[in-house]
Amino acid sequence: MRVRFWGTRGSIATPGPGTTYFGGNTSCVELTTNNDDLLIFDCGTGAHRLAAELMARGDKSISANILLGHTHWDHIQGFPFFSPAFVKGNSVAIYGPQGSRGSLHDVLAGQMEFTYFPVELNQLPAAITYHELTEGIHTIGGARVAAQFLNHPAMTLGYRVEADGVAVVYLVDHEPFSDELWRGGAELGRIESILHEGDRRHAKFMADADLVIHDAQYTPEEYGAKKTWGHSTYDYVVQIGAAAGVRQVALTHHDPSHDDHFVADIERKARALALQHGTDLDVFCAYEGCELVLEPHSTLKPFVAENPFQASVAQRRFRVLVVDDQPELLAIVVRALEDHYIVSQATSGPEALRMIDEHMPDLVVLDYKMTDMDGLAVMKTLRAKPQTAKLPVLMLTAMTDEPSTRAGFEAGVTDYVTKPFSIPQLTARVRVCLARTPVP
Ligand SMILES: [Zn+2]
Ligand SMILES: [Zn+2]
Repeated sequence: MRVRFWGTRGSIATPGPGTTYFGGNTSCVELTTNNDDLLIFDCGTGAHRLAAELMARGDKSISANILLGHTHWDHIQGFPFFSPAFVKGNSVAIYGPQGSRGSLHDVLAGQMEFTYFPVELNQLPAAITYHELTEGIHTIGGARVAAQFLNHPAMTLGYRVEADGVAVVYLVDHEPFSDELWRGGAELGRIESILHEGDRRHAKFMADADLVIHDAQYTPEEYGAKKTWGHSTYDYVVQIGAAAGVRQVALTHHDPSHDDHFVADIERKARALALQHGTDLDVFCAYEGCELVLEPHSTLKPFVAENPFQASVAQRRFRVLVVDDQPELLAIVVRALEDHYIVSQATSGPEALRMIDEHMPDLVVLDYKMTDMDGLAVMKTLRAKPQTAKLPVLMLTAMTDEPSTRAGFEAGVTDYVTKPFSIPQLTARVRVCLARTPVP
């Protein structure tokens, strides 16, 4: 298998003398299997030069599979310049997460409307197909591809491609689920010791991979001011990659304000951190033109999906109950969700339990600290009853500390979202919880 980086920049293309080494084009990575299956992760501005190279190879027809993590601009802006789509006889299969606003086709057509671009999407002569994915295992080209949601203020998928006896995992536009990676008192550096269920799932998804390509847009010093923007730091990636037994990590989605010196410094620090943790994790900062040839080094351990349901969220109408004793916050959350779901509200634990008894929701968004009965007590009652033992609960709280997070998961919450949160982040997390509920 061959992997080549065509775009390593996050947010906005950043050409210029300061970025000539690591590159200024936005996200695009080419993966070619030994059977010549072509998979392309994201279609940022880097896709333009990849497209030119594909055309220059002079193949009779090009068959490309484009795997979009999500449709933020820096991940799709190169698509109108993907020249193989302008040639009859070529085929382009586009994959992306279901549950964004509008279909994949409509979102891509939007940036090619006549106001923005001279050729409309439906005028492209190649055979273009659209595939909206949810979590689970898919076959793309001849490769086994697992998809799992990331933590980003938009529905965003990470991809794990297994082919040729190796696993390559693409996790771009993702933010840690919790400030604290490790559970207090647990042995550091093990997947089981990860505090937040979301981070643990993320680690399992990359477990034993030969190569992980991971968002590392910010330094730990910058991250505080950029929380909820949906990006990671190198120390998170190094720690979680080492715990997951990953062989090699490429840090990418470099911040537009980071020049080559700055990114090189991140690389040095990330390597020092890996050494300090006593792992043999090979970490580097991805640069444009970087090409890796991956050979199998041990038996590939195929990823086993935790969630076998692969529920489609598009055709279902979900009921969500929001519970909070602060009226302002309750109103904000209800307003954010009621465009998409049937939303009811309760202002106390006892009222919530009564409402659940009367009408079972698909998800409860539950405040932690409430007067008279707090969120943990509500959880205890829910989990003790067979009807509500598995009812998905998203805890929404200002309690960001390790003991509170641990108490939440020990009480059986499905997800744990901390304030301050952004509305797009909350709606994405709610949708992920719902996508993981079994189809009735
Ligand atoms: Zn991005
Ligand atoms: Zn994004």
